[in-house]
Amino acid sequence: MYIGYGYDVHRLKKGRKLVLGGVGIQNPKGLDGHSDADVLLHALMDALLGAAGLNDIGHFFPNTDIKYKNISSLLLLEYVYKELKKKNYKINNIDITVIAESPKIYPFIDDMKTNISKVLNLPKQRIGIKASTNEKMGFLGHGNGIAAMVVASISEKKGCRNDKSS
Ligand code: ZN
Repeated sequence: MYIGYGYDVHRLKKGRKLVLGGVGIQNPKGLDGHSDADVLLHALMDALLGAAGLNDIGHFFPNTDIKYKNISSLLLLEYVYKELKKKNYKINNIDITVIAESPKIYPFIDDMKTNISKVLNLPKQRIGIKASTNEKMGFLGHGNGIAAMVVASISEKKGCRNDKSS
């Protein structure tokens, strides 16, 4: 069994759409970035890639590449999932913490889990998503950005090292 850890943070900016866990959330500001800046999915991808001993998402999806401009991070997550499958890894569980002063994340957690569950073929009860604030301290607390931290557990599928179809 292998554990991976991922962390990401993005700046909040007026005029951007806020997308977290593949869910569009009504908010005066959205996260700034080259893709849809879905900080939650970015941290999740880094946790999965890290657990598999692979390079980080900046290596797989460089922000200089026009084809990733405003792309849905759910598509990037799908790519990462396929990379893990190629290496014969299965995901055991993932645990996500989002740090945002606002908006309230709680009402959207179930939809986020549904999105992630579909892409990773992982039952929703194996996906934890918690929301926290930064108690009004620092850049997160002042609402300048949103951060996410993710721990993921994966293991090698037994007895099917060369079975590409699994
Ligand atoms: Zn990111």
